[in-house]
Amino acid sequence: MLVIGGIQGDEPGGFLAASIVATDYNITKGSLWVVPNLNFPSIIQRNRGTKGDMNRKFGHIDQDDPDFKAVTNIKKVIADQNVSLVLNLHDGSGFYRPNYINEDENPRKWGNTCIIDQERLEGAKYPDLNAIATRVKDKINENILNQKHTYFIKNTQTAKGDLEMLKSLTYYAVTQDKSAFANEASKNLNAEQRTYYHLLAIEEYMRVVGIEFTRPFKLTVQDVKKAIEKEIRLSFYDDAFVLNIHNLKGALNFVPLKKSEINYSSSNPLIAVIKEQNGYKVQYGNRFVTRLNPQYFEHVEPLKDISLIVDGKNLNAKSGDKIGVKNSFNIAKQSEIRTNVIGYNSKNIDEAGENITKNRMLKSFSIDKEGNVYRVEFYKKQEGKDKFAGMILVEFR
Ligand SMILES: [Zn+2]
Repeated sequence: MLVIGGIQGDEPGGFLAASIVATDYNITKGSLWVVPNLNFPSIIQRNRGTKGDMNRKFGHIDQDDPDFKAVTNIKKVIADQNVSLVLNLHDGSGFYRPNYINEDENPRKWGNTCIIDQERLEGAKYPDLNAIATRVKDKINENILNQKHTYFIKNTQTAKGDLEMLKSLTYYAVTQDKSAFANEASKNLNAEQRTYYHLLAIEEYMRVVGIEFTRPFKLTVQDVKKAIEKEIRLSFYDDAFVLNIHNLKGALNFVPLKKSEINYSSSNPLIAVIKEQNGYKVQYGNRFVTRLNPQYFEHVEPLKDISLIVDGKNLNAKSGDKIGVKNSFNIAKQSEIRTNVIGYNSKNIDEAGENITKNRMLKSFSIDKEGNVYRVEFYKKQEGKDKFAGMILVEFR
């Protein structure tokens, strides 16, 4: 089974759900492929498509279209012989109803629907599209938060002449004999409610194809919100500089980046670091996280062996680690290395060997809004210059 999120960047329910499945779920039987961020440029810019609607480019796409590579690649994945069911996740307007009720609930709306292009697809592994979508719809409706959210099936009858839907991803999948579905969560709902409904759908489609899984949380809106907001690790230059994204301040100053290049990786596929005029900004999907105001340094190999005393106990750390501290920490002196605890004012240039408690820290230098997490940075003198040699985070708990 193939799950796709983020074909349109302004539909966070779909890409957050796909991302949570990719990062948090454990598949114990069968095979699930997840593409959580298909149109990543539009996700981080929070628009429907940076160069028009990607979901209308599956019939034909020009070679010079900026989406050409993404569309061509995902078509190959869809057509792969290992894929038998394709699920594309969307957030749609209002609430679909078979009959007109009001402006928000009527047949023209897409929100809270299980979408099929046709009743059946002969030759596909799971030919009865309508029966499968009905099973998923019923499962969602058993877990509905509010009667107004009731899911319906929407059959776009694409092959009968829906010129727009003929250009869509799911219809392309149908032409490849893949059982294809779209799940829509209403844009009237908040992000965690949309994600909740998408996860209910993804899980039921997995059951349809016999995929078994575990997840580390209960499927409730509250736990889904926690999964969306849980701490995310963002590492620069192979753990030379690390941020744990959770409750971060809107701007971080004097970030020791290399002038020549930015290089990062994250535990979450929706994290992007984007160049701006005077630095960088960090995005988590549609959400702005923080701005990095750099102070450029040359880097040397980040320290792999940092000795410190935390609350009276000896510890070893390496660059990029986050250390929990109850009362105090004390970084061991190292030859040729200068320790700089950001937000701590010592009389000494090298702040190693000092017992540091939270009340000595200046809250304005913490990386988080609460004033609990601080950067401890290491610099090496070389050729008369200070070169950045890695860092750890300390978190007062
Ligand atoms: Zn959409």
